[in-house]
Amino acid sequence: MAEHDPLAWINDEMKALREQGLVTTIREIESPQGAWLIINGKRVLNFCSNNYLGLANDPRLVVAARMAMDRQGIGPGAVRSIAGTMSIHTELERRLAAFKGVPATVVLQSGFNANTATIPAIVGREDIIFSDRLNHASIIDGCRLSRAKVIAYEHNSPESLEAVIQENKAMARRMMVITDGVFSMDGDIAPLDKLTEVAKRHGAIMMVDDAHGEGVLGKGGRGIVDHFGLHGQVDIEVGTLSKAFGVMGGVVAGSTTLIRWLKQQGRPFLFSSALTVPDTAACLAAVDILEQSTELVDKLWANAEYFKKGMKELGFNTGQSQTPITPVILGEAPVAQDFSRRLFDENVFATAIAFPTVPHGTARIRVMPSAAHSTEDLDFALDVFKRIGREVGVVR
Ligand SMILES: *Cc1c(COP(=O)(O)O)cnc(C)c1O
Repeated sequence: MAEHDPLAWINDEMKALREQGLVTTIREIESPQGAWLIINGKRVLNFCSNNYLGLANDPRLVVAARMAMDRQGIGPGAVRSIAGTMSIHTELERRLAAFKGVPATVVLQSGFNANTATIPAIVGREDIIFSDRLNHASIIDGCRLSRAKVIAYEHNSPESLEAVIQENKAMARRMMVITDGVFSMDGDIAPLDKLTEVAKRHGAIMMVDDAHGEGVLGKGGRGIVDHFGLHGQVDIEVGTLSKAFGVMGGVVAGSTTLIRWLKQQGRPFLFSSALTVPDTAACLAAVDILEQSTELVDKLWANAEYFKKGMKELGFNTGQSQTPITPVILGEAPVAQDFSRRLFDENVFATAIAFPTVPHGTARIRVMPSAAHSTEDLDFALDVFKRIGREVGVVR
């Protein structure tokens, strides 16, 4: 039978991946998200998640979701453009616009969808996209779907952007510059002020995907545009409600004209059902919390600084991160994988990341501190890192 299975090739491909150490083990979390998780019945310190502010299991979000379900049920029953737009969706869009200080926003089912909705609605075949070489997969897919010509510029380099625009601008009807706000593997921040200056000078549309900056950067987590004081200058700001906001969803912020257009043309808006009622209500509760106080955002940054300082003092190489994301750079892939396994044995859950996600020789453990961690949690982790680092000879 097996030789007639038209999907039999998958087994060969999987075998090849396994031999290269490229098969991802998917762990199952038995507890709610938080500073500590239960995995295989074992309590481990969580250093893997994008739940920056600890909101993924915040009782205020849970209560808001429950109360909204009592009022408006669960499912939207349709796409936004037919019968799926509920009052709670437009309320979230208004609240996010006010929070971010923009004229309008549109909410989608995920950050991934926000990119694939936006990019093809703005540029097409006759156009050129200038994209940072290290941009996120959802930007890459959005670019492909648009059929525009994509030209990569060197990572975080306004000079490289300037050069590729100069070289290619004569061929384009419209031009768009796209960058991640925060790059998730190194934690570095795009020089959005300089990139925007270059884009504007050439009449290009400026777009940023601030998935790792939303709820993290700027005043009280208002994002990268606020961080650089660029209000009104960045044409399109994409964000996610699935990371610091602790829920699920994507958002596009910009002018009223832009948002109106995306509600007519964004394919995931038109052809995929709306966010559920409890998700939307939980996002609204997250906005409430962020508007009331900067406490969680401040705690996140204080925790990140405390952990990074501790790791540097121990002699670890934590790279050039400018955000809470803390890469612990170890060298070749097997070293990082072994380190991650040893951490897990000692109840610290932090993933190893290696080529092709990061360059050869820079395999790492990526530590994601959050506002949910206590100082004792961080001290516990520093102690485990110190012990294993010495055992394997990474630090003295
Ligand atoms: C995580 C991420 C996304 C996807 O966001 P989801 O809401 O999880 O779909 C998009 N872009 C960037 C840069 C991201 O880091």
